[in-house]
Amino acid sequence: MKILLVEDDRSIAQSVVDGLSAEGFTVALATSGRAALDATDFDMVLLDLGLPDMDGRDVCRQLRQRTGVPIIMLTARAEEFDRVLGLELGADDYITKPFSFRELVARIRAVGRRTVDAPGGGDEPAGPQQVGPLLIDRRTRRVSVDGTEVQLTAKEFDLLAFLATDIGAVHTRTEILESVWDAHWYGPTKTVDAHVASIRKKLGQHKWIEAVRGVGFRLEPPGR
Ligand code: CA
Repeated sequence: MKILLVEDDRSIAQSVVDGLSAEGFTVALATSGRAALDATDFDMVLLDLGLPDMDGRDVCRQLRQRTGVPIIMLTARAEEFDRVLGLELGADDYITKPFSFRELVARIRAVGRRTVDAPGGGDEPAGPQQVGPLLIDRRTRRVSVDGTEVQLTAKEFDLLAFLATDIGAVHTRTEILESVWDAHWYGPTKTVDAHVASIRKKLGQHKWIEAVRGVGFRLEPPGR
């Protein structure tokens, strides 16, 4: 797995690069927000929020617009505000400084399992799943509607794939948060609503995901 590390603190950067390389990861280092946005070919991003040239949150937002790969934010600020905002910016996880190297590797592997290596785990169907005109391929993490590919972020894919595990069944917001986000990400359930809104928009039909008032959401082909 190729990891893009965005960190301006040379001593932290060097120890993370050395440590992750020893763990078998390929690491590219960007020491500014601008360099991060110029980087190509990576499977995951570790993003320091305190960068010299740009606000890390803007870097996160812009990275998310151009890639669906998982983003783990490295933050010295542990306040609830940042966690919630991080989710809204499209980050997949965060780790608070100072962190232990073991903690960092565990977080990388956990996010990697949930996103990059998600297929094959558990009882998810192995082949692509057809739901009306919607095709969900968990192996390649691709989604298409009537043969046209839809670009979802990592979290949007996970959420859609989770709803698709039981077509027509209602999943509560808490169930969705527990399955798609880590327990320590627990924030306002409106995070789920924001992701649902984005998926609906990308699928081109609001009716794909029905909100069941006071309960949660269900996935069903529109017009059934
Ligand atoms: Ca920094």
